[in-house]
Amino acid sequence: MGNQGLFDFADLPEWEQAAQDDVQVADVVFNLPLEKPYSYSVSDNLRDILRPGMRVRAPLGRSNRHVTGYCVGIRQTSHATGRLKAILEVLDPSPLLSTEMLQLTEWIAKRYLCGWGQVLESVVPAGVRRRSGTRMILGFLLAADAEQRLSNMRLPPGQQSVVDVLRGTTAPMSVPDICEHAGCGPGPINGLRKKNLLEVVRVRSELEGETLKSTTSEPDLQINLQQQACLTAIHKAIEAQQHQTILLHGVTGSGKTEVYIQAIREIVRYGRQAIVLVPEISLTPQTIRRFGSRFQSVAVLHSHMSDSERHWQWQQIAQGNVEVIVGARSAVFAPAPHLGLIVIDEEHEPTFKQESIPRYHAREVARERCRMENIPLVLGSATPTLESWLRSQRQHDQLLSMPDRVSGLPLPPVVVVDIRNDPIIARGASVGRALQQAIRRALTDGGQVILFLNLRGYSPTVWCRKCGSGIKCPDCDLTLTWHRDRQSAICHGCDYSVPAPEECPSCQNPSVRYFGTGTQKLEEEVAAAFGEATVMRMDSDSMKKHGSHDAALERFRSGEVQILLGTQMIAKGLDFPNVTLVGVIDADSMLNQPDMRAAERTFQLISQVAGRTGRSDRGGRVIVQTSCPEDTSITFAAKHDYLGFARHELKERHELSAPPFSCVTRVIFRGLQESQVSTTACEAARQLRKATHEDPHVRILGAAPAPIARLRAYFRYHLQIAAPTEERVREIWLTVASLFQLPDGVEMAVDVDPINSR
Ligand code: ADP
Ligand code: ZN
Repeated sequence: MGNQGLFDFADLPEWEQAAQDDVQVADVVFNLPLEKPYSYSVSDNLRDILRPGMRVRAPLGRSNRHVTGYCVGIRQTSHATGRLKAILEVLDPSPLLSTEMLQLTEWIAKRYLCGWGQVLESVVPAGVRRRSGTRMILGFLLAADAEQRLSNMRLPPGQQSVVDVLRGTTAPMSVPDICEHAGCGPGPINGLRKKNLLEVVRVRSELEGETLKSTTSEPDLQINLQQQACLTAIHKAIEAQQHQTILLHGVTGSGKTEVYIQAIREIVRYGRQAIVLVPEISLTPQTIRRFGSRFQSVAVLHSHMSDSERHWQWQQIAQGNVEVIVGARSAVFAPAPHLGLIVIDEEHEPTFKQESIPRYHAREVARERCRMENIPLVLGSATPTLESWLRSQRQHDQLLSMPDRVSGLPLPPVVVVDIRNDPIIARGASVGRALQQAIRRALTDGGQVILFLNLRGYSPTVWCRKCGSGIKCPDCDLTLTWHRDRQSAICHGCDYSVPAPEECPSCQNPSVRYFGTGTQKLEEEVAAAFGEATVMRMDSDSMKKHGSHDAALERFRSGEVQILLGTQMIAKGLDFPNVTLVGVIDADSMLNQPDMRAAERTFQLISQVAGRTGRSDRGGRVIVQTSCPEDTSITFAAKHDYLGFARHELKERHELSAPPFSCVTRVIFRGLQESQVSTTACEAARQLRKATHEDPHVRILGAAPAPIARLRAYFRYHLQIAAPTEERVREIWLTVASLFQLPDGVEMAVDVDPINSR
């Protein structure tokens, strides 16, 4: 953010102030899906107060209702502005956003086709807007005529010391402050008030928060040659003071985190700050702890903070008091005044994309922010997205590789087991013969086991044996999942829940059955089969409480638990040397997702869970159960062959002109009346085709019902615009959207570069 801190006021140059005849116009954006700011005139009494980045109240629309918006720019104009409405009130004493952050949010609005005001509303935390944690208190100054009157007055000693304290200040002081400095109680202050010697003003209290200083400071590790080569390249990029995106492709356990830490060490030395984005704070306790123990001041931005904590942290960051900011995707907006580096760890994780407005991808926002600030961006992963990989292959980004584990140990052998003829699986179990034997052996040898299954609940499908239909949520086009612990069938789309349905809602027969295996059922099966071991399940149902994740991992680390099973929650970042076996229960459930990225996700997940083992000289191995053993995402993952997978998958995507070889924008329509939603979506698709029929490089797909055709009672249709560049997609959409009328009763969501096709 350049050299201008968030709370700096860059005063206008003198010559500009002198042009008094000019009228001041403020550009204001509101929390609306609009492209352009509104202009308002600024009255003389607000002239010296209003700055870009502050919120204002202003009349909006024909009804002139008073709405809060953000001032994003101030201009002088000599044109007649008689027809402009005027700003009513300025709400903030100082800008909430720096000029650079305004520029970045404007870019997001344009790139992700949403309103600038919508972006601002999402970027500035509610606690910062409300100035949570501060309140109005009374402050005291000496009255204007006090000195004159005091010259012929004798005060008691207590009152005299209060006067002495206040003589030394021009800012109002609170009662506790005065008492502390004057060494007295509140009595003398009241005495002086009664004599009218004090002026009383209302001031805002200072924010207070816990200190950011870490208690332990562990030394850096002695890095190896492979890490040194990467570090040197990153240092070079830092010194060049030019933006460069660096893709750090390092296998699991290659020591990427240590490279981030030592790269940040360098920029902290220059008095700058770094932002580290991780997929999810609660899922990466080990990584967070490592940063905490290696830097003086680390701010961890997590979702369990109160508004006032968040406000306090925001201020600490803005004042430059924080060296390293660690957080999930929204930490990319941390107001660090002298940013030196952004790191995105596990850049392939889908959580970096926000699935509500503004639907931004933190990687792209980080890239833009780093470009604006002329600093490097480091993307780290063992399994980079094909988007990032292609950019590095085309030399847009720099590629650094760490093909070996720090320990010098090989990546674990992966055995793919075809379960189609497994007699145990045929009888309805989920752990087949080979995996059972492997678990038994691992336990006998004193090792620990991780089992991965991507379906939570007890049985993923509740269905009727008589009429053969799945029992669906009344509001969604999704089959209910049986959760045995809650004795309920639950919809994973809307959380609708019913007690065990005894009869089928369609045919009324008492023939409801549960089908398939979720983590709860797996837990039961494993506990029954391996009675001697302690089994623990981790999924979003068992880990609802804040901190439960960390506590559970501690039980695993201590050895109290031998078998850890769970959803992708356990696939990330865990580093436990005693894990000698990883089992993937059902690779097919990932492969069979109706999503262009199903193969890529399967490859990533298998590689990531496989990375949890073989981390010590105890060795380790991986067993993948599947009924598609020939599938390329599985065979490449089994060989730890990222390059082979990327080459193969990119070829397929190229043939289909799919991303990353094209840019896609998805438009979703929803409403309570299906016919209205479908008509609207089809009309939009027709207009898009009409506008682009002469361009062979543009494809309009749909409109069609979305894969989840009904969600929370809304019918959903979608269409896609695919073109060679994002500029072209934007141009097409803006042309058609400006002509297109959305009827009442239908809502529309625009998702640029979607990664979710549901
Ligand atoms: P990655 O992020 O690539 O999976 P990590 O940074 O978590 O790898 O490193 C894996 C393990 O190796 C960690 O326990 C880490 O402390 C250790 N480690 C990393 N670099 C070194 C090094 N240079 N010397 C010794 N141990 C290291
Ligand atoms: Zn539902």
